[in-house]
Amino acid sequence: MSIEFQARHLDVSAFAQAGATLRGSDLLSNYERLLEECSGQGVDRQVHWEVRGAQQTDASGHVRVWLHLTAGVSLPLTCQRCLGPVDMDLEVVRDFRFVATEAQAEAEDEESEEDVLVLSRDFDLQALVEDELLMALPLVPRHAICPTEVKLAVQDADFEAAQQAQPKPFAALAGLKTGRKD
Ligand SMILES: [Zn+2]
Repeated sequence: MSIEFQARHLDVSAFAQAGATLRGSDLLSNYERLLEECSGQGVDRQVHWEVRGAQQTDASGHVRVWLHLTAGVSLPLTCQRCLGPVDMDLEVVRDFRFVATEAQAEAEDEESEEDVLVLSRDFDLQALVEDELLMALPLVPRHAICPTEVKLAVQDADFEAAQQAQPKPFAALAGLKTGRKD
């Protein structure tokens, strides 16, 4: 009989022991923190993820518990160069090793290439997926090549319009003078 695993309440040890895989595509609207980065845009975008559990016995005979994660999403962000909309594709591939205690995790995380987390029977995979995608966000989202021609033309037009709309102090003075003559 196969065991059902739940992404939001995962028994990590049992999942790894079974060598099981969970995958899903969720609406971005289920990922509040990612959605915040998009200023509420893109609620119907899909977050794709897959997590594979594995157990390995190391050289010292200890059983190691692993999760291997891949996740991806295309986020609608704002280009910080031209301020136009830009879709940023995020892809993450991460390995996690699980240990018994928080202290052990802290100590081993420093010296390990993989991330070291604490074993749980009620682990939230969706939160992990979201954490990793948030960390993959570019500090300054921008187009590889901005559609600058379009944007600059609009900016120029706006700039000229703004110039013309500004009151001209000398013209106003001239107006006053002619006013006096009348
Ligand atoms: Zn741009």
